[in-house]
Amino acid sequence: MQKLAVKQDTGAEEKQILWHTSSIEQVLKKLGTNPAGLTQKEAESRVLTHGLNRMPKQEKRSAIHRFLLHFNNILIYVLLGSALITAFLNHWIDTSVILAVVFTNAIIGFIQEGNAEKAMDAIHELLAPHASVLRDGMRQSIAGEMLVPGDIVLLEAGDKVPADIRLLSAHGLSIQEAILTGESVPVDKDCSCVAMDAPLGERSCLGFSGTLVTAGQGKGVVVTTGASTEIGRISGLISKVETLTTPLVKQMNVFAKWLTVLILAIAILLLLFGYFVDHYDFTELFMAVVGLSVAAIPEGLPAILTITLAIGVKAMASQNAIVRRLPAIETLGSVSVICTDKTGTLTLNEMMVTSALVHQSVFTLEGAGYQPKGLLKLNDKVVSPFEHVALGEIARAAVLCNDAELREREGAWVVEGDPMEGALLAFAAKCGVGAQGEQNTWRRVDTIPFDAKHRFMATLNHSPDNRASVFIKGAPERVLAMCNKQRKADGGSERLEEAYWRKTADGIASLGQRVLAFAVKDIPNEDMQLNHADVEGGCTLLGMVGLIDPPRAEAITAIGECHDAGIRVKMITGDHGATAAAIAKQIGLKNPNKVLTGNDLDTFDDAKLKEEVLDCDIFARTSPEHKLRLVMALQSHGMTVAMTGDGVNDAPALKRADAGIAMGKKGSEAAKEAAELVLADDNFASIAAAVQEGRTVYDNIKKVISWTLPTNAGEASTILVAMLFGMTLPITPVQILWVNLITAVTLGIALAFEPTEKNTMRRAPRPQEEPLLTGELVWHIVLVAALFLGGVFGIYSYAIERGYSVELARTIALNTLVVMEIFHLFFIRNIYSTSLTWEAIRGTRIVWIVVITVTLAQFAITYIPLLQGIFETRAIPFFDGLLIIGTGLTLFAIVEIEKQVRLNLKAR
Ligand code: ATP
Repeated sequence: MQKLAVKQDTGAEEKQILWHTSSIEQVLKKLGTNPAGLTQKEAESRVLTHGLNRMPKQEKRSAIHRFLLHFNNILIYVLLGSALITAFLNHWIDTSVILAVVFTNAIIGFIQEGNAEKAMDAIHELLAPHASVLRDGMRQSIAGEMLVPGDIVLLEAGDKVPADIRLLSAHGLSIQEAILTGESVPVDKDCSCVAMDAPLGERSCLGFSGTLVTAGQGKGVVVTTGASTEIGRISGLISKVETLTTPLVKQMNVFAKWLTVLILAIAILLLLFGYFVDHYDFTELFMAVVGLSVAAIPEGLPAILTITLAIGVKAMASQNAIVRRLPAIETLGSVSVICTDKTGTLTLNEMMVTSALVHQSVFTLEGAGYQPKGLLKLNDKVVSPFEHVALGEIARAAVLCNDAELREREGAWVVEGDPMEGALLAFAAKCGVGAQGEQNTWRRVDTIPFDAKHRFMATLNHSPDNRASVFIKGAPERVLAMCNKQRKADGGSERLEEAYWRKTADGIASLGQRVLAFAVKDIPNEDMQLNHADVEGGCTLLGMVGLIDPPRAEAITAIGECHDAGIRVKMITGDHGATAAAIAKQIGLKNPNKVLTGNDLDTFDDAKLKEEVLDCDIFARTSPEHKLRLVMALQSHGMTVAMTGDGVNDAPALKRADAGIAMGKKGSEAAKEAAELVLADDNFASIAAAVQEGRTVYDNIKKVISWTLPTNAGEASTILVAMLFGMTLPITPVQILWVNLITAVTLGIALAFEPTEKNTMRRAPRPQEEPLLTGELVWHIVLVAALFLGGVFGIYSYAIERGYSVELARTIALNTLVVMEIFHLFFIRNIYSTSLTWEAIRGTRIVWIVVITVTLAQFAITYIPLLQGIFETRAIPFFDGLLIIGTGLTLFAIVEIEKQVRLNLKAR
């Protein structure tokens, strides 16, 4: 548990009070800033005095502490206990081999855990939040930790407040401050100062670092950063250490523990049985039992599973999928349906206005990207925008009802803000309307920010001659519902022809374009506040524009891959049904002619929705609440659902989904917080890659287990059977310890690094409830253990019959065991397809490194006289060497044939 580190700095207390009791002007003065923000230079110099805006990092556990933790494990206690007793019995060789097993295990675990922690740290860095600030009078997005007192921050729904701020303006702003106050209902914010003794939750003119904006927009000045913020003062440290585990790995670790207990119980029984019934010599008996226990305990398993996960996390990050919650790695592997947004995920989110409709005229626009230059055409002829008054009016609405900025950077035009709004600025420029000029002339007084539920945005602007107009842009059906008039080409107005506009909007949408309508309404100029009621009716439609947003080429490939992998892809978008259907066709979704809209979903009860949801892949004009219902409907079919989201209101659906996926670029902090996975590039292809990686990790976990357990069972049963039947041990206890040392911690690790199997994305998803230890796996364990047993005893008896000494016979048996383990390793690498391909035989670098290491070690104990003395081994004649390899091959052939038969039966 983290200790609370509350600073008792009275100076800071006083200052703190100042921020919510003083007027905005006083606060700005105190901070030496102004509403246009600091200069970049000033901000940089303030970083030097105030430090970075981040919480002090939690002190890491010391290396020694971390190393020692690897001994804190029941498996290891048992081994250490055995080492102690062997030492008492003066069996120093056994003691050293057991200790070597324990230490090698701890060292490998320690190194790999270090790597895993580094991978997690790197991931936290990738998730570091950004903040929108005004610097040098311009809006820009900077890393949250670069914020300094005096910076002017812009907030919108879904943002995390990046530092403690005093609000300068707030429009419908509400913030959820549960992390500070425990109150989960969001509180409304405004700019007026509050009483000195107002408790934290009532300081409505302040925004606190780490809290979430749930609605509205606001602007504020940073008053404190980093550890001096309220959250910093309360908790001091908030970064918590995440352990690298998943439910499956936890389950395996519990299994390994119980297995250890079981093995111990068997060992004790055997000891008693051997001593009192069979009257074995105690020391000899004890050594055999120790050998048996060490052989049976899968001591390397926990470390290898952790390594497998760490490799998976890293591999996913390199594919732009950042895992926020580790169990997601596992869930991703079993995903059977992906519900995805359209804009930016399936499409590039690089928008351009290509058509503009103004009272019976359809203009087309040309150009490239966001460049504010391009030809304007009417009926295929280039025209001047200045001849068309009504077009100029749409363009003005497009720049006034807009929060984005276009900037030229190194010859390219880029958008700061929403790409669609950026495209509108470029469109206005092509129509001869400059954003800056209009925005300076028409002062914005209030705003209704866009939200996915209402699908429009409106601003209240005052003209220089003191007229007040509301400019509205939004989804056509929303805006049409507000209008009763339409603009004529000459600038006058007439009655709205709603049917005509609806038809026209559908026409553009069916080309795959996003349609946006514009309207205006004049209101009394004393109105300084804009409410939803103000735009409910009486507006004049100015016209519509159509924007293209090309599909991502890689999304098309990825969708094909998902379909091959038995994963259904569903598009859930806020966009128009016809636009969604056109894009769905282009990217290859199944069933692109069936579209259900949010309105349709509202008429369905849960049973009807459950019925309809399977077959339909396009859901249009949906709001975040629909996403939640869709997730639940799909889950009711037993499907594992991955759901993407970006807005603040998507959080419930992301939480409810089996794998919630937030967009890293355009996603809000609220969505990221609710998600299991964050896509660094917002790209659908990264989801497909993450699913593939999830399947690979699961397969590798399965491979590690499928290799380790039969290996342990085979080794242990060799000793067990010999003891039970009163035979000479075909492998001595110290030899078994050796095999365990070199195999458990070397060969097994290679499997953690296994690359994706070729047909991974051609298999149907794994059923959610499928246990890891399936009947198939248990059968495999039994089969391989039996083959190990047969191989070892078979070759041992052969050697004895040939008249070899017991020592030589044991050396041959020992080497056979290791060779069989190596062949089993090659077999396990391909559990879903044949191992008889060149690729399978060629293996990977890591596989060959461990195989060569183990082979060299075997040669060493077989042929080096010093080691021969310690392990009681003898040099093996050449022919018998071949026989050992032959035994390995035979094992391989048997398990391979068994697999082929099983796979064939399954396929049938
Ligand atoms: P998705 O990313 O899920 O595909 P989307 O981004 O297409 O969804 P929303 O952002 O919810 O969907 O937008 C829905 C509709 O709202 C759009 O089709 C458009 O008509 C309108 N809209 C989108 N952004 C704005 C905005 N900034 N101002 C006004 N209207 C907007």
